[in-house]
Formats: sequence, structure tokens, C-alpha cells
Amino acid sequence: MQLTLLATRTAARPYRFATQCATVDNPDPQHKDQYGSSSVPIYQTATFKGMGGAYDYTRSGNPTRSHLEHHIAKISNARHAFAVTSGMGALDVIFRLLKPGDEIIAGNDLYGGSNRLIGYLKTHGGITTHHVDTTDPSTLVPLLQDPSRKVAMVLLESPTNPLLQIADLETIARLVRTHRPEALVVVDNTMMSPYLCRPLELGCDVVYDSGTKYLSGHHDLMAGVITCDRDDVAKGIAFTINSIGNGLSPFDAFLLLRGVKTLSLRIDKQQANSVLIAQYLDQLGFKVNYPGLPSHRGKAVHDRIASGPGAVLSFETGDVAMSERIVGSARLWGISVSFGCINFSHVSRTKLSCFKFYKRNLPEDLIRLCVGIEDPQDLVDDLEAALLEAGAVRVVDEAGARATLERVRPDGGDMKAVELKSVGGQERVKAGRPALERVMTSAPGKVILFGEHAVVHGVTAIAGAIDLRCYCLAEARSDGQISLDLPDLGYSQSWDLSTLPWHLVDPALTSSSCLKTGPKPDQAPSTELLTLLANQFVHQDQLKAVQAAQAFLYLYMHLAAAQGAGAPRPAAQSFTVRSGLPISAGLGSSAAFSVAVSSALLYSHGVLPLPSSSSSGDAKGGIDRAHADLVNAHAFLAEKVIHGTPSGIDNTVATLGGAVAFRRAVKGREGRLDVIEPQEGRGIRFLLTDTKVARDTKTLVAGVARRKLEEPDTINPLFDSIQRISDSAHSLLTSSTVDRAAQLAELAQLVDQNHAHLVSLGVGHAALEAVRSTTRGEPWGLATKLTGAGGGGCAVTVVPDDFSDDSLASLRSALASSGFETYSTTVGGRGFGVVAVPPSSAEVDEAEGGAERSKVPERRRFDECAGEELARWAEGVEGWVRA
Ligand code: PLP
Repeated sequence: MQLTLLATRTAARPYRFATQCATVDNPDPQHKDQYGSSSVPIYQTATFKGMGGAYDYTRSGNPTRSHLEHHIAKISNARHAFAVTSGMGALDVIFRLLKPGDEIIAGNDLYGGSNRLIGYLKTHGGITTHHVDTTDPSTLVPLLQDPSRKVAMVLLESPTNPLLQIADLETIARLVRTHRPEALVVVDNTMMSPYLCRPLELGCDVVYDSGTKYLSGHHDLMAGVITCDRDDVAKGIAFTINSIGNGLSPFDAFLLLRGVKTLSLRIDKQQANSVLIAQYLDQLGFKVNYPGLPSHRGKAVHDRIASGPGAVLSFETGDVAMSERIVGSARLWGISVSFGCINFSHVSRTKLSCFKFYKRNLPEDLIRLCVGIEDPQDLVDDLEAALLEAGAVRVVDEAGARATLERVRPDGGDMKAVELKSVGGQERVKAGRPALERVMTSAPGKVILFGEHAVVHGVTAIAGAIDLRCYCLAEARSDGQISLDLPDLGYSQSWDLSTLPWHLVDPALTSSSCLKTGPKPDQAPSTELLTLLANQFVHQDQLKAVQAAQAFLYLYMHLAAAQGAGAPRPAAQSFTVRSGLPISAGLGSSAAFSVAVSSALLYSHGVLPLPSSSSSGDAKGGIDRAHADLVNAHAFLAEKVIHGTPSGIDNTVATLGGAVAFRRAVKGREGRLDVIEPQEGRGIRFLLTDTKVARDTKTLVAGVARRKLEEPDTINPLFDSIQRISDSAHSLLTSSTVDRAAQLAELAQLVDQNHAHLVSLGVGHAALEAVRSTTRGEPWGLATKLTGAGGGGCAVTVVPDDFSDDSLASLRSALASSGFETYSTTVGGRGFGVVAVPPSSAEVDEAEGGAERSKVPERRRFDECAGEELARWAEGVEGWVRA
């Protein structure tokens, strides 16, 4: 049954781009290979025997070329595709659709080769071209509207090469359709490839690519491809190719087909590298042309018509001689023409992470960078060394691994100082390492003691931290990967840092002020980045884990981007998160996850200094309140990624510990959040019982809201009474004068009353009543209420100080015999905690022949042990400091 369903789902959904690229299949039966070869064979033949077959002469058609053309049409979402011997060959074929006397409107920043051909058309073909500024679509209108002009073609490029100017292809195609329906809109899509932009889908008529670039990706062939949807245009193109004989040769068609299979893979990596490099140069104060930068003119248009900024950028130094020195000083970056290739690390001339240095028609100091697939750190390091050697930047301050670089402006103007984590030379600290090698954090879950459900309608709720915790272990690694392991959810995944979509990082989250005070409370996560991240998860069916991983990656990426002043220098790390809390039981496990992960990121990256463990003994906790607030602000953003619109209570309790009294803002009245400080050693014992009855929180909340509308006279007095209960509990929990036994007795009464009200609101359940009747019964006599909005099916029981351990054990086994799971906990304890984890005994033994023994428990146990043993393992690490 499951298999059938899966098959239907797959059939209904078209494959995504990467899959389409990698699967070369031509449904035409005549292309079925007789041996079932998995790679398309090379039909290296000029002629075919016999008459009336599918092929007779390779100038007119060849099976290898047909396969390639079918594949290009498929990934371009086009009806027709053609493969010819070069990009310029493709444009030449397209130009032959024109007649003498026709006119072309073209951009004024076209690829030089296109301009050369346009010049030839003018002298030899009687075809005139009008160059306009295509970054502004309105510049085309007078020409399109002028009846005396025989405009038959509009030729566009976006982004242009090398200034990366953006033309709004969609708007221009619409204008041409309106004013000159007979004119063809032709787009040179070489800079984007069909992966990043498909102009036919934007209303353009003919698209061509220099296949020499991204489609091939290896600088080992010359090719051009043309796509279109119109049958009449396709007919004209096919006629020309057959007439002049510039169809792609079988061997090059084979090579190009092979290259295309990895198109998206290569561009993802090249583009991610480009983003890092563009940000690096931008932050040093150079004028950088790249649509991946928020400041780029036309970025909004580009983001609408394309799905990524590509892997070509250019920058200006302000001085021709300086530009020459930079280009001359680089080692890894070669000097070359063309772009789109991955790299050949040890072959010099054709390296693709290369500069192109322009001397004519363009700013003379302009340097174009075509970025390859090398390790981005090596590229930045090499560029940085070249900039230093060329005198374009200088070091103004160096402290340990950090250095501050300053741009040297040739015009003597203001200089910009940028702090970098590392700087050139032999002593350079291996980049991409977190400030702390191994750090563990923990954060408590919470229970709602009073006010659930009523809180939605403006009544105060009281939530307290419990001593069941979530633990996060962050460890440095050196392989350029970031990984997340969630053993409790059976989830594990790692990502190559250089392929993360860095260009979608939200600038609002990477400012230095954001590093100091955290994301603003109203900051919403970027849906664009979340959608893209969602596609990166292999186990899409594990919703909870995927949401947690999304929140993790979201925080990680922004922190890495905010930190690397010169360029994001993401640290390769492994994160393992364990939950000592039941998950999805309404006990704040997701908030504990968010706080544990946020704090692990902030400490391991050195954004927050590790507090000294000697300060942990004082009653107020050993973590600065400002530091805790920074952790909380990040955790709140993570909670938004996981839940959409969280209240912020859970993460506040998980950060600060103690308890909070929280009242939502309702019409005409402000919200309020009072923090009740953790009471060291005076937490209140509670027994938590998980009935494991899954209930739908949303339905329960909606049911209460409906009853409030329909029966206000019954429900409003209940809310008033719950407000009084919360007020009493608040003063009870903050009073230092009340006798402890009396305090607990009064709390038990409030628990009973609140439970009765919840049942009257209609959110009770037989399983919860079964728990209550057990705990209230002989010989225990303890008060119990349901806790949370209902989804978790959990109950809390107040355990007085004089209730013996034996009694508690027998109560727990009585509940267990009904199939319930119990957790003994203390409410009101410390908030999140952090500890730097030294190497374990085994690791020290290995490294130092057992000279020094560490007291750290076996690392491996952290992944394996569960429940109370997990807490014992984690608490066994010495030096915890808690909020
Ligand atoms: N279009 C653009 C934007 C290019 O950069 C190039 C080559 O550099 C071409 C077209 C021409 O392609 P080819 O060299 O394959 O003829």
C-alpha cells in the first residue's frame, strides 16, 4: 500500500532541476539504445547507411547530438533545442532569421563578441542596431513605438558581462509583445544557464547559451545551444544549421552532455564561493558588481527573474596599476578568459577561478572574477594575500588569530577598517575553526503550572523551568562540513559549507548590532532561505527533525555570515543534540533545543565569552543577564522557524530558568512578562506524568474559543477565577516569608482548583483523570492537574518536601502499571548552562600516552545513553555555569 502511494506521489511531481540534469533519457523509441548503455554513445560518423532512416548525414542530424538537444530542451523547459559549434555560432544562426533592412534593439553593455558580429551585420547584411540602456525598460519604448523603425529583434543579456548589469527580461518581453508583437526577444543566457534563469518562461522567444561556459563546465570544448518554443522559429533555425553546417560534432555533443549532468552541482558550489568572495571584497570597501550583494543595483529585479546570482563578479580598485599588481600577485587565481568552468587545480593557464583584466571600453581598473569550485577559504586567502602584496589593503592591528585589515584607498580618501579573523602569512590560523573546540550547553524544559488555555484570552499563565534538559554538544571538525545529529529523533545530516545558499542570508541578521543584541523580537525568518533550506533535507518525512534542522542551519548561517568581517568564514562543526525531556509532550522540548543550540553557537564561535566556572556558585547564576538575553533573542528566532508564531514564553523559561508569569497583550491592554528568579536549592518537586494520549492542541484551543463566544456567562467567570489562581501562585512563588510546607499545601490547592476549571472548559481527558485519581488516592493524597494546552497529554503532581523517596517510587510504579511514563523533576531551577568540554580520558590517552587523565566521561556515551543516565553523563562534565 505504501509503495503504491509513493509511486503515485512521485509520478505526480515533475523532477527537480538537479534530477533532470542528471537523468538523460530520450523517450523517443528510435533513441533507445540496443545495449541499454547508461551513457549516450558517440556516433562518430559522417554518414548513415540506407535511405529513409532517421539519420542520413551528420550535418543534418546525428543521434548523439539529438540526445543532447533533447536534454537541453528538457532542462530549459523548451519545445526545441539546437546544439552548434560555439556561442557566437548560435548567435549567428539566430541573426540569420533577420533580413536586410531589419533593425535590432540591443543593450549597450553586450559581450564584445556579440558587438563584433553586430558590426559585421551592419556592413554586410544591412541590419542596423540601436544600443540602449536595458537596465531601464522604458528606454526601449520610443524605438518600439516608432512606426518608421523596422524593429525585428531585441537582443538582451542579463546580468551583463562583466559589469553584471540587470535587464528586466520579463518586463521587456511584455513591452515588446505590446508594441511589436512580430519582433523576437532574444536572450544571451550564458551568465546564468538554465539552472538559474529560463527566459522562455519569462515570455522571451529565443534563448542561447555559450555551452563553452557553465553547460560544459570543464573548458574542454566549444559549443553553443539555442532554445525556443515557437515551431516556425525552430524551423528557420534548423534550416540554417543544416545549410551552413555548424551543428555540434558528435564527440563534443557527448562531452557537453556529460558536463550538463553536473550543472546544478557545480553552479551551487561556484555560486556559494562567489557570494563569500563578493562579501569579502564588499566589506573591505571595494566597489563590487554582483547581484548577490544587497547593494547591487537591480538586485530586486534579478531575484525575481533568476534563482541565484551566478558565479561571475567584478570589482574596481580605483587604480589601474593597483589592479595590475593584484592580478599579478595572485597564485591560485589564474589569468584567463571565459568563465563557467570548475577548476583544474594544478594546470595553470585554464584555471577557472580566474581574473579577467579589462583595458578598453570599461573602467580600466575593473577586475573580473570567475569563481570555481575550489575551497572558498583558499580562494579568499589567495585573494587576501594578493591584496596585501599589491598594497590594496594593509594590516593595522593583529591580535592572536584576529587581525584588522584596512583598505588603502589610492585617492587618499577615507579608509575602511575591517576586522578579520585571520590574515595572510605562515602563521595564519587554519580558517574556519570555531573559537572553542568542544563546548556543551544545556537548557531546561518547562511546565505550565497555571493558566493554560486561559492565557490565549489574556489571563496570566505561570510556567516554570524543570530539571529535565536538552543537551547540545558542539565540536570542531576540519572537513568543511557542518553536521547535525539528533539521535532521539533518529536523524543525522551534514552539509558541505560551501554549497549552503549564503546569498540568501538576511542582512538584518548579520549587522554588528545584531551580534551584540540579537535579532529584534519582531524579526521574521526569511521564507526564501527557509524554502531553499527545506530542499536540502534528505529525510523530508521526519517533520520534527527537519524543522529542528532548519532552525539550526538558519541560526548557524546567519551567525557565520555576521562574524566573518572580511567574508563569512563558516566554521566546520558537528552538533549533537540530546533530549532528556520527552519530545512533543508539551514540556518545551523545542524551546530547550532552540536555547541549547543558540547558546552552543554563540559560545563556540566566540560571540559570547565563556563564563568562568568559579562564578557558578553564587545565588544569581554565573551568566550575565545581557548574555542570557542574547541567547534568548536567537532562540526566539529559532522557535519562529520551528513553530511560526511562538509566544516566547518557552524560550524565556528555557534561557533564564526559574519561572515566568506571562500575560498576552489583548485589545486595549499591554502584555506583561515577569521573571521569577531561579531559587537555588529551593525548587519545588513535581512528578510529571506523560499519558502519551496524543491530542490536538489546535482543536482544544479552538473549542475553548468557541465556547467563550457561545457561552460567555459560563466561560468568562472561569477565566476570572483562573486569573485569581495565577495571581495567588505568583505571589506564593515570589514570597520569601511564607512557611515552606504551607506554601506547598496552598500550591496543591491551586493545582486542584485550576484542574477543575480546565475540565469545565472542556479540555479534560479520561487518561488525565485516571492519573489524578491514582495520585489523590490512598496512600498518596497528592494534587494533580493537566498541564499545557493539551497536545502532550501530560499531568503535573505537586510533591511535598516530606514525601519520601519510597512513596514516590511506589506512586511511579502504580502509574507505570497503567501504561503512563513518569519523570521526577524539580520546578524553578537554573536556566541554560554552558561548559567547555576538555578531551576525554581515552582521547588524552591516545594523544599523550596516558600521561594526563581527564575526568571527562566517554564522549561516545553521550550519543548512546538515555533518560536519567544521559543527565548523569552530562552533569558529570566538570565546570558547568548556568544562568
Ligand atoms: N555570450 C557571452 C556572455 C559570453 O561571455 C561568450 C563568450 O565569452 C559568448 C556569448 C560567446 O560564446 P563562445 O565563446 O562559446 O562562442
